[in-house]
Amino acid sequence: MIRKIVTGMVLLLLLSATGVPVMAAGGNGDGSGGPGNGGDDSAGNAGNGSGGPSGNAGDGGQATPGPDGPQAQPLQEEQKRQQQETVDQPGVQVNQQDRDQDQGRTGVDTTAEPTSTGAGQQGNRDLFLERLSLQEERITQAQDRQKAQVDVALYAFSSAGDVTAGAGPEFNRLAGVINASRAATNQAEYHVQTRSSFSRMLFGGDQDAAGQLIQHADQNRQHIALMEQLVANCSACDPQVKNTLMEQVQVLSQEQNRLTAIGRQEQADRGLFGWLFAGSGSTPGTGQAVALTDDERYWMTFMREEEKLARDVYLVLGAKWNLPVFTNIARSEQTHMDSVQTLLDRYGVDDPAEGRAPGEFENPDLQALYDDLVARGSVSPEEALKVGVLIEEIDIDDLNTAIATTEKNDILNVYINLLQGSQSHLEAFQQNLARY
Ligand code: MN
Ligand code: MN
Repeated sequence: MIRKIVTGMVLLLLLSATGVPVMAAGGNGDGSGGPGNGGDDSAGNAGNGSGGPSGNAGDGGQATPGPDGPQAQPLQEEQKRQQQETVDQPGVQVNQQDRDQDQGRTGVDTTAEPTSTGAGQQGNRDLFLERLSLQEERITQAQDRQKAQVDVALYAFSSAGDVTAGAGPEFNRLAGVINASRAATNQAEYHVQTRSSFSRMLFGGDQDAAGQLIQHADQNRQHIALMEQLVANCSACDPQVKNTLMEQVQVLSQEQNRLTAIGRQEQADRGLFGWLFAGSGSTPGTGQAVALTDDERYWMTFMREEEKLARDVYLVLGAKWNLPVFTNIARSEQTHMDSVQTLLDRYGVDDPAEGRAPGEFENPDLQALYDDLVARGSVSPEEALKVGVLIEEIDIDDLNTAIATTEKNDILNVYINLLQGSQSHLEAFQQNLARY
């Protein structure tokens, strides 16, 4: 019954789209209330809407950067802008000479550089760390913090030649390969972000862009694993350099998790046509939930309490120091808790937070963490803000792990939403901390 009505609605929409393309660009697209955001839609909608019933073809073509109607120009501008940025990025200046010298060399050159004496090595290390921390300072001011972090990580590896003995050229090469994939992943992400709500509602996600994101992330993971191995095996490396590079490995692999999550989410977005004609039972939103794996159940339960931990710590510290940043973010954590609870209910998982007052947890590790963090944050406002930073960093790590354990779109949706929240909370705490 509902299916019939919806089919009718879709046909009506299609008719109006063929007849009056303007409607597709304006009212219909925005009125759908789809996941796309209204602001960016104008260019995409005009191109896709005019495709009408044969929109499927036009839609597939959207991913290729060819002439694509009204959409092509802003896209080209965006590409140009991205290329420009790429050139300006410090992390990407992969030296062509190094690359040439490096042709065919895959292993680590174990011969120490003749010039590096003990004192020279120390000087190199200090210079390297100093330059890196200069780059890192720019992260907090960057518009896109995530991308700025990746810039710094790639910078670290492409400039690590003086501090990693023979592994330098290989780090440089691997950073260059990962960097080269960024044009494609940026573009794919751009397609996902700017997909019109009209296309999304009818045809679902941009499968081509989704595939690109997942494929590049998978390939990059292999390069990153190699980097990690090289860092771990670098016996000539200074311990501080090693730690720093390991941190950068984490940044790079988290970025791949993020890209994979976006790709998977996009893949799972099937749109009305997918729902109406694919026939398989999983209706969006309302379908009965499929069974969870043990990992999925564990992380869902854990995330519910971890969001509660954030809320509860922030409520205590906000009241103690009268800092509005804590009370504001505590409200946001409440909505995070609620969205995990919706998942728990949907999948019939027991709620660990049920009947537990603020500051009480089922998971003993989280209970211990809560007690520790409240104690630390009660020392001074500055310590309290550091606790905020720490909680968000832990949260981001755990969410990335949780994202890697599931392929279910509704769960991914919630986790990605929480991840974005955590990233902006982290920034807010860091900005407040910078005033001390
Ligand atoms: Mn949160
Ligand atoms: Mn948070």
